[in-house]
Formats: sequence, C-alpha cells, structure tokens
Amino acid sequence: MRQRQWHWFAWIAAFTIGVFVFKLAFEHSLSAHDPLAEDVQAVIERHQISYIGDITSQVFHRKDCPIASQIPNRFQVMFFYRRAALEMKFNPCPYCRP
Ligand SMILES: [Zn+2]
Repeated sequence: MRQRQWHWFAWIAAFTIGVFVFKLAFEHSLSAHDPLAEDVQAVIERHQISYIGDITSQVFHRKDCPIASQIPNRFQVMFFYRRAALEMKFNPCPYCRP
C-alpha cells in the first residue's frame, strides 16, 4: 500500500514539472519576439551614436530627443555625425535642433 502512494506522488510530481517546463517554454517564446529591437539602446551606447534618423519622415534627432524615442526601431537610422545625416538628405528636427 505504501508503495502505491509513492507512485501517485511520483506521477503528480512529474506532471507538475512537465507543466512548469511547458509554461517556461511558452513564456520564453512570447518574450523572444524581437531580439534585434532590444539591442538598439545597447548599440547606441556602445558606439556613442549621436543622432537618430527616421527613414519615413527623413528627419534626424539628437539621441535623447523624446520624438526620436517614439520612432519604431525598424525605421531608425543611426548617425555618428550631423554632416552624415545632412548628406543623406535628412532634415534636422525642429524640436531638439540637432
Ligand atoms: Zn528631435
């Protein structure tokens, strides 16, 4: 009888672990949506990028401009120099005046 109770416990433990692993895998698949986007801030800091452009409006901003932070990552272009942005026909933002 005692052996049978142990079997029940083992089954319940195995089931609980299985659910937990499945839950972890599911949450990981949700959180790993866009690894490229999460690295943008790290890239800006590592390379000391000064200006961020928006390819849809062709406007560039200082990296700390509040408007620049609203540009979706896939539309962002990064510039080291103001002159580089101007040569790419980008216009300076009237708010942050880069
Ligand atoms: Zn701006």
